[in-house]
Amino acid sequence: SSTWSNVPQGPPTHSRNSTNTLPGITEAFKANTFTNKVNLGVGAYRDDAGKPYVLPSVRTAEKRLIFKELDKEYAGITGTPAFTKAAATLAYSASSPVLDNIAITQSISGTGALRIGGAFLERFYPHSKTIYVPSPSWANHAAIFKDSRLDVKQYRYYNKETIGLDIDGLLADIKNAPPRSVFLLHACAHNPTGVDPTPEQWRTISDVVKNGGHFAFFDMAYQGFASGDTDKDAYAVRYFVEQGHQIALCQSFAKNMGLYGERVGAFSLLAASAEEKKRLDSQIKILVRPLYSNPPIGGARIATEILNDPELNTQWLSEVKGMADRIIAMRDALKGGLEECGSKLKWDHITSQIGMFCYTGLRPEQVDELANKYSIYGTRDGRISVAGLTSGNVKYVAESIHNVTK
Ligand code: PLP
Repeated sequence: SSTWSNVPQGPPTHSRNSTNTLPGITEAFKANTFTNKVNLGVGAYRDDAGKPYVLPSVRTAEKRLIFKELDKEYAGITGTPAFTKAAATLAYSASSPVLDNIAITQSISGTGALRIGGAFLERFYPHSKTIYVPSPSWANHAAIFKDSRLDVKQYRYYNKETIGLDIDGLLADIKNAPPRSVFLLHACAHNPTGVDPTPEQWRTISDVVKNGGHFAFFDMAYQGFASGDTDKDAYAVRYFVEQGHQIALCQSFAKNMGLYGERVGAFSLLAASAEEKKRLDSQIKILVRPLYSNPPIGGARIATEILNDPELNTQWLSEVKGMADRIIAMRDALKGGLEECGSKLKWDHITSQIGMFCYTGLRPEQVDELANKYSIYGTRDGRISVAGLTSGNVKYVAESIHNVTK
């Protein structure tokens, strides 16, 4: 018999491929022949024509790179220093007093950063190896940390009744966790709910995390993509650092540079001193080397070019803002459209939520009805990707949502 006859068929894995957010949706969407069908399951930005968007700053960086005729030698284990330095500066800010104490490595986008972080905690975190993730969270968080052999538990985050943040539940769960637990925090544009704490709530969260002696592990997959301003979106990360938290941070350039398939990101740890940074750097290298030796150079070169060239950087920031603004405009249009239809329900959460995703509050049967009657496809938890809305389809989507909720 085959060596692998004992390997069972696993359940379908949700692919990173944006057209395949949930297998059922994609198939149903593809098979649908209605010309006005709408896919709100996509996990990647789309332009106002519903097409994938390559940032002009990225195109320019690519052209410059080709012209430079660079070699294809290996990067160092932790990537190219020009990239990691620029990534750290973007996250922690150029004026941060801790910049010199950051141990950082390039990573295979945000996912790879989380996986290195999981491995580092598993090997070196001196207290309980339980990581608390929000309920709900990006589904891959639990998978990544379980594969890192950490215990994964949840803290309350989303309140179904208010379609907003369950701040009381969140604070209570942090308070009641065993001292020195690890908490995964979405830095901005929480996926899947689009619900973020306010700056004031972040300050309270910081206090409660500190009082418990907990460790803050930030996932910042959407810096700039949420508000359109990379500084504003880094508020929580920078505030925690200011308050003396020794944070871990995962960064991704998938969304804010549209470099999804290039797989460029970073993982960093804040050290207490230059001497400690050296020790952390050495152990990160020891972790990465047997995993994949060293990271790919292509995407990192594009990001480096954009981050380190002042003119291109300014252009990129305006393009990030353009993406965020389009999403914010679509939120306004969807809410406005529902009001125009005479919907008696409250839709304020559509515009108070942020980032690519919106938790509409639609029930699974209503999501099914949207698909079956109106050819509009979202996930059954009521999540829609706002990036799938366009000025051409938003009115139709609003009318259809009204029809299934009135
Ligand atoms: N973290 C969150 C919350 C995400 O939503 C994503 C992508 O959807 C990621 C991390 C990582 O994505 P990537 O590995 O493409 O950078």
